[in-house]
Amino acid sequence: MKGKYLLRTYGCQMNEHDSERIAGLLEADGYEPTTDLEEADVVMLNTCCIRENADNKLYGALGHLKAEKERRPDMQIAVGGCLAQKDKDLVATKAGHVDVVFGTHNVHRAAELLSESREHGQIVEILEAAVDAEHAAFPSALPEKREVDYAAWVTIQIGCDNSCAFCIVPSVRGPEISRPFGDLVREIEHLASDGVAEITLLGQNVNSYGRDITLKLGGRDEDEFDVHEAGERWNANGRRRGRPLFSDLLRAAGDVPGIERVRYTSPHPKDLRDDTIAAMAEVDAVCNHLHLPLQSGSDRILKAMHRGYTAERYLERLKAAQNGIEDLAVSTDIIVGFPGETEDDFERTLEVAAEAGYDSAYTFVFSPREGTEAAEMGEDFIPQPVTKERMARLRHVIERSAAAKNAARVGRIEEVVIEGPSKRNPGVISGRTRQNKLVHFEADLRAGALATVEITEAATHYLMGELRETLRGPKVRTRIPVVAG
Ligand code: SF4
Repeated sequence: MKGKYLLRTYGCQMNEHDSERIAGLLEADGYEPTTDLEEADVVMLNTCCIRENADNKLYGALGHLKAEKERRPDMQIAVGGCLAQKDKDLVATKAGHVDVVFGTHNVHRAAELLSESREHGQIVEILEAAVDAEHAAFPSALPEKREVDYAAWVTIQIGCDNSCAFCIVPSVRGPEISRPFGDLVREIEHLASDGVAEITLLGQNVNSYGRDITLKLGGRDEDEFDVHEAGERWNANGRRRGRPLFSDLLRAAGDVPGIERVRYTSPHPKDLRDDTIAAMAEVDAVCNHLHLPLQSGSDRILKAMHRGYTAERYLERLKAAQNGIEDLAVSTDIIVGFPGETEDDFERTLEVAAEAGYDSAYTFVFSPREGTEAAEMGEDFIPQPVTKERMARLRHVIERSAAAKNAARVGRIEEVVIEGPSKRNPGVISGRTRQNKLVHFEADLRAGALATVEITEAATHYLMGELRETLRGPKVRTRIPVVAG
């Protein structure tokens, strides 16, 4: 054993997934996990600059670690992730006691950089961008240490080609790069043989998956290579298609034996194509849940955000999905108080939210992220009392529809994957329906088991139920372990 590592993650699902891979890399390198700072030989902070106050949180944490580093100079501190990518040298200059700073494009080097810094002192290694799919650090292609056995994230794409005015992602994660289709299918097959029954396809803009592959394959005719890059359907009936589509990937993932649930996040409304809706409707494994970020219901604000759709177009796409996919639950993201948002703009958002009839929503008050276009719109920032009052009105609309949607499920029999004891009430267990709704009920079942539950009560954010039938226990691995030589 090389020592113990303590890993702290600040941020989004992409970052949490990166952390699983960092943990996998460290454990493959001989480290063991710990949650006790006193016994950690390595403290790894995986940062995010999407969340509010990310820099304050990081520099606060580094401040606390300074005393420990002075007491135990051999303890190594590493900072990775979006904020490290964005602030490059700042982390190292502000916190001289940090041993390693790495960015979003060289996560795969985490363990090596720690070793190198033991010999050479502080290392700051930030790459400007991943060069291409062959050299990109897709977190799913690295060793893994999953948080749970029965479910896994699969990164299908890194980066983003959009330029939403409020978002820092394109500048810290670079342009979109899709992982080759064949690699993804192999990864999903491997996960299934490892006992995983549920996968979530992950990307900043998942439903534009494959656009870059099309450009790359443009002038080629080596068919075999095409199939690996773009999937079987690329050359279906001898006629090349424009690109491997996200819907092809949904179908291929749903075809993998053992995969019972396929989820994905996050799609962009402007790229929600009919073939994706058809795949969601036709592939049994794809869950009946769509997270479709609205951000604003005002066309003026959507334009200022560079979102690439109008409220009418958003609702048209949403209705197409609701009409095409049976029993679909829909969630969204909405920003309140984007710079320049008038009362009239906000009322458009309330109207669209009411018409959409969301099952749930992540609602945020706008807060500027340094380095984004919206952060420069200082004179149009909306005062806090106004955003507070607007947020309360929006929450009211969202909660009304969420409560109604949940109430409509009372009396139904739902298929539920068990997540474990309820966090609030360990006397009951919690599970997820195919619509991504949380259900609490009494049963003696382990995480990963599959059961049917009759819904008996509904609240705004969860359901209560009674166990009807246990369909199966947690899956076991069927893969024969291979020991690397
Ligand atoms: S689509 Fe917009 S919000 Fe989403 S990651 Fe890309 S730039 Fe950011």
